This record gives sequence, C-alpha cells and structure tokens, in this order.
Amino acid sequence: MSDLFEKIVSLSKRRGFIFQSSEIYGGLAATYDYGPLGVELKRNVRERWWNAMVYRNDNVVGLDAAILMHPKVWKASGHVDAFNDPLIDDRQSKMRYRADQLIEGHIARLRKKGKEERAEAVYERLVQALNAEDMCGALYDLIMEEEIRSPDSGAFDWTEVRQFNLMFSTHIGPVTEEENRIYLRPETAQGIFVNFHNVRETARLQIPFGIAQIGKAFRNEIVARQFIFRMREFEQMEMQYFVKPGAQREAYEMWRERRMQWHLDNGVRPEKLRWHEHEKFAHYADAAHDVQYEFPIGWQEVEGVHSRTDYDLRRHQEFSGKKMEYFDPHTHERYIPYVVETSAGLDRTILMLLCDAYHEEEVNGEPRNLLRFHPKLAPIKAAVFPLVKKGGMPEVARALQTDLQPHFYTVYDEKGAIGRRYRRMDEVGTPYCITVDGQTLEDGTVTVRERDTMAQARLPKENVAAYVRDKMEAWSPPA
Ligand code: ATP
Repeated sequence: MSDLFEKIVSLSKRRGFIFQSSEIYGGLAATYDYGPLGVELKRNVRERWWNAMVYRNDNVVGLDAAILMHPKVWKASGHVDAFNDPLIDDRQSKMRYRADQLIEGHIARLRKKGKEERAEAVYERLVQALNAEDMCGALYDLIMEEEIRSPDSGAFDWTEVRQFNLMFSTHIGPVTEEENRIYLRPETAQGIFVNFHNVRETARLQIPFGIAQIGKAFRNEIVARQFIFRMREFEQMEMQYFVKPGAQREAYEMWRERRMQWHLDNGVRPEKLRWHEHEKFAHYADAAHDVQYEFPIGWQEVEGVHSRTDYDLRRHQEFSGKKMEYFDPHTHERYIPYVVETSAGLDRTILMLLCDAYHEEEVNGEPRNLLRFHPKLAPIKAAVFPLVKKGGMPEVARALQTDLQPHFYTVYDEKGAIGRRYRRMDEVGTPYCITVDGQTLEDGTVTVRERDTMAQARLPKENVAAYVRDKMEAWSPPA
C-alpha cells in the first residue's frame, strides 16, 4: 500500500471515519463500518447526489427498492449466467487473482519501463481475449506467453483461469432447496427496471425521464484488499434515464458532462479526474465510459456511465411476460425505451474525497495535517470553543452552539490549548472554528477562523450562522 493510502486508512480509524467490520473478532475482509464522522460525510455525499439528480431535474424521481428481489430478476438481467470474473490461482501462495487485472498490471509495468510498443501489443491482445468465445483460455494463454508472475510470491505456477459468479446467495424461508434460492442484489439498477411502470404511472412521467436510487449492493469480490475501494457490501448511487430509441447518444453525452461536473463541484481536483472508455462492454451495453480518479493505487473507476440499450426492459418483458413498452402520447408510437445509466459508488466516492482532501503542510515549523473538504461535504461544519475554560466563556460558547445547531452540525470543545483544538478540527476537515474570548464578554463579538487559510474574522455572534452559510456557498478549492 502506498504511503498516502496508509495515512488515510490510519486517519480514518483514529478519528472515527471508517472502521473494519467486526474488528474485535479480527475483522471481516472487505467490509467496513462508518464511524461518527464517516457517517456524516456519507450523508452529505448522498444528499448532494440526490439534490443534483432528483431535486434539480423535473423529470427525475427517486425510488428505494428492496435488496431482495424475485430470483427471476437475476436470470433476466443476465447476472446468473454472465456476472463472472475470470480468476486464476497462484499454486504456491494460494492467492487468487483476476486474470484480466494481472495482465493490466503487466501492461502498466511495460509502460513504466518505456516499452510502449510492446505494452500496446499486449493491450490489443487483452482486448481480443476479453471478447473471445473462450475468454478464460485466451487470458490464460496470454499470461503464459507473457510469463506474468504472481505479484505477491513472484512465482510462475498458475492454475487454469476459471469463471466465478460474484452474487451472494441464500435461501428464502426455512427450506434450503434450489427453487428457494435468492440473491443479494449485486446492483441497484434492477430494482428500477422492474418498477418502470409503477414509477412512470404514479409520477405521471413522459419520456425522457429518470429514476434515481441510492442503496446497498453486494458482490463476493475476490480481489478485495484495497480498503473501501473494493468491498463485498457497498452502496451505489444509480440513475436510469429512459429515452426513445435513437436518442441515447445525446442523453449519454449530456449525462457524461453532468456527472463529471458533479465531481468537480464537490471540489475534486480536475487534474485527478479523467474519462476512460471501456475495452469490453458488459453484456447489456452499447457504450460505456468510466469517470476515473487518480488514487494512490493508480487511476481507477469511481463511476460508470453506460448506454444500456433496451436490454434490461426487453429481458424483463421476456421473463415476466409483462409488456415493458412505452406509448408515446404525442406520436402514438409504442416502443421499449433505451436506457442511459449513471452508476457511482458511494464508498468509492468517499475514498476519492478523502484522498483528494488530504493535505500536509508546515506552519511555523510545526506540521499541520488537514482534510480540505468542500465545506458542504465536511462532516462537522463548525466547532465552537471558549478560549479558556473559565470566566463565563464556556457558558457563552455553549449558548452560541445551541443557536447554531438548527442550521448545521457543530461540536463544542474546551479541552487543551486553542492551537491544538484548531489542529484537531483541521485534521477532520472542519471548515470553521468559532472562538469565544475575553472581548466576546465585553462586546458580543467572536472570531471565526477558516481551515484553509487560517485567517480569522471578528463578527457579532448573532451573525455567525449567516456568515458561515455565505462562506460555504462561496467556497472554492484552495489553489
Ligand atoms: P470494477 O471493474 O471496479 O469491478 P464495475 O465496472 O464492476 O467495477 P459497476 O458494475 O459499473 O462497477 O458499478 C458501478 C460503481 O459501483 C463503480 O463505479 C464503483 O464505484 C462501485 N462499485 C462496484 N463494485 C464495488 C465494490 N466491490 N466496492 C465498492 N464500490 C464498488
């Protein structure tokens, strides 16, 4: 793991953003719990997404579908037959890898060594292998020919490449028979497709329109060693936008632009974001781009924008026997709509925000660590301090906190030197610290100190809520 990554994992635990699940039992791999600050950050991200997708678009509405769905859903969606990863085992270390990712790693190493031409040739062959009839065989041959070694043991002692289904399954009711098998949803999208008519009719929507949903998804990921980057239980923020066949390209470009803008509006550095086009489309897609962020572990996907054609609705029509058509009241045409999907990982967005906000600097020879979150995303918006724990200052500070509580999440801290209290707040990304001092007792003014610049302003305490709100609106990322 890289240095920065380790710092973020450690800060997340130490300050109560993210804990390993079931830690007292040694932890459960690739599952995590959000602590008091993590849960605030997560709520803020969720809220901003919902606001951008639902509240700001007249033709997008929300949904909250169940995690458990009729088993036929996953037959229809293709997940029972095609939601597979190609896996290969290192016989010596017993470690398991995704075959395509091993080859991608090999290509990245070739590029690093300046062997561009060779890297390009291997890349071409990877694309061919991923699209081959016998994908497993083709990936295996490529690993053999390129003599790709195991990243952990360095051995060259591989098993065959095999397919492995990523869905968690269990049984519904007391009888563990095959026909009672159900799955934990591996994506939230299918809940939207099966409710297409329910939502359209009740919300009186006409095409084009979208349905947005935030919820848990589950995947039995094999390679899950990267903190909250790849989890077995995670949360997705998805929107399916239904359009007339032929209009998908335009919708696709519009949503690509808007989704990238959303990440930029969250204060993520533009140079750390890019588009990546898929080498191989999923079984349902006719165009697919990912928003990638440059994590400490390299450029990786945060969100996918996919043109899913009419695949899902058509399959549900086939498997359920119910019509999934739309009747256009203007043209009197009947058709199965095409779908453009935006699918972001909530947890991965959180990891990106932590990586992007993390900053170390030196102030008067002292280290200062801070999380430069967009104030609207910051878990705590304002901290209220009495300069000292006596002389009536704590009472005034407490009363000020009570005034601020209806507006945003605040904390009160009176322990330790004021400088240390500022540093504690910097470290968790609190954008504003308000201090009650001797002068407050005389004229009712307090100081508001900003996290990014450490500049302080003095203002009447009645004006603090409005001041902080205005500052949050006007915030832009530090240069
Ligand atoms: P990958 O190639 O990384 O496995 P994917 O292409 O399968 O991802 P999608 O099915 O497009 O991912 O899922 C949409 C989004 O959901 C991803 O962009 C990612 O942010 C998030 N996501 C997917 N799998 C996981 C996971 N195991 N843990 C955390 N987030 C995930």
